[in-house]
Amino acid sequence: MRYDLSELTLLRCSNCGNDLGGLSTDVIFYCSECGRCWISDERLSPVDIEFLRVGGSDSILLPFWKVDASVTMQDRISRRESSTTGVSGFREFTGREMGLTESDSGSRKVRFIFPAFSTSLVLSTGVRMYRENYLPEKVEHGKRFRVIGGSVGKDDAALLARAVAVGVEVTRTDYLASVDLEIEVHSSSIYAIGCTPDKNVLRINGSEIGILTTAINDCDEILKQDRQFTG
Ligand SMILES: [Zn+2]
Repeated sequence: MRYDLSELTLLRCSNCGNDLGGLSTDVIFYCSECGRCWISDERLSPVDIEFLRVGGSDSILLPFWKVDASVTMQDRISRRESSTTGVSGFREFTGREMGLTESDSGSRKVRFIFPAFSTSLVLSTGVRMYRENYLPEKVEHGKRFRVIGGSVGKDDAALLARAVAVGVEVTRTDYLASVDLEIEVHSSSIYAIGCTPDKNVLRINGSEIGILTTAINDCDEILKQDRQFTG
């Protein structure tokens, strides 16, 4: 059986029957008629959505995953700056002799926010949003918003959350030798966050974080569809 694009037009909101538009790779669909958001898996499942930093008429709403999880550090070994470990001789040195320390055992609750649209910068953006302690201060509402380009499904979001957690550890300022962590996802939902085109980036409103437009796979399509909707 062959699928073609015309099948996408059959996607209708399970709540109000409105057509759910989007790019051919989208799996996240926001119904601008009734304000429900859906994830397309084998069928449409509802997912919570919140709108943040919507901004002015030149800003567009991009979908991000908000994943709340417990991160358990199984093993985290860092290397002291002054250690000299170049020559190990004839025997195995213990970790402590080689200037290694273990720390950060135990579990902590963490929120990860990272792009749900396709970009080669999903991990670095997620790490930056984590490090800037990215906590949006105000949630807005509006049925007529348009959210397209969401192509990262729920299962992939859980995998990416773990990768961001590892990335956060790697970019800490000590000398990381190895890290092994487990992540348990408690809830995942969508943040639609206003971003404004600024030279060669889409800048998250109220943030220093810009995502290179050339790194966003469907950037032209997203901008075009957004313009059609608002124009
Ligand atoms: Zn609807």
